[in-house]
Amino acid sequence: NNEERLQKVIAQSGVTSRRKAEKLIEDGKVKVNGKTVKTLGTKVTQDDKVEVDGLPLEKEQPVYYVLYKPRGVISSLKDDKGRKVITDLMHGLKERVYPVGRLDYDTSGIMLLTNDGDFAQMLMHPSHEVDKVYVAKIEGIPSKEAVKALRKGVKSEGEELKAVHVKILSTDEQKKTTIMQIVLHQGKNRQVRRMFEAVNHPVMKLKREQYGLLTLQGMQPGDYRELTPHEVKQLR
Ligand code: URA
Repeated sequence: NNEERLQKVIAQSGVTSRRKAEKLIEDGKVKVNGKTVKTLGTKVTQDDKVEVDGLPLEKEQPVYYVLYKPRGVISSLKDDKGRKVITDLMHGLKERVYPVGRLDYDTSGIMLLTNDGDFAQMLMHPSHEVDKVYVAKIEGIPSKEAVKALRKGVKSEGEELKAVHVKILSTDEQKKTTIMQIVLHQGKNRQVRRMFEAVNHPVMKLKREQYGLLTLQGMQPGDYRELTPHEVKQLR
């Protein structure tokens, strides 16, 4: 049976954040099987009856969404500068969903959102090797060597950043710009932009077109839909 830390179970039920769940436990507001538990990290299973403030935890159904994030939207749940955030685009959701990873403010494309913390953690772990396919418009026309370097790995801010595949989709000789496809397994912060910066071809425009087998087919920026159970299974 799946043992989980008490504060995680409380947070995942959508009642509150993990931080606040810890506080509730320490404040003696949480009972497991009728007994007050004040020890953070107490392990519980599906069969344990958890109460917060005297009320049983409602088990929230796991939900999974794919969103076509437009440019000019923050890929988190809150922004202290008051800019538009992804959940502003998703109306009428009952569940509290969290983004799986991030996209830059100026990047558009596919994002997953879920309230299933384990699923999100699994997808974000580099060992999971899910293909993230980006299309980037870059300044200049890269040499063969530059393309090779991106595959081999480039150093940026002390990190080794590498692509699984890189290819030129088209070039504009007049404007001196290139459309590139780049596939990553890693998911470091601003990775695509940093990789092209490292080879002196700054990214002008960036879109994530695929996440694993999921594409944006039939979707417009701002659209979202639930994943089918089959799609969820394919990502696991
Ligand atoms: N790489 C980037 O540089 N930006 C993104 O938003 C995603 C990947």
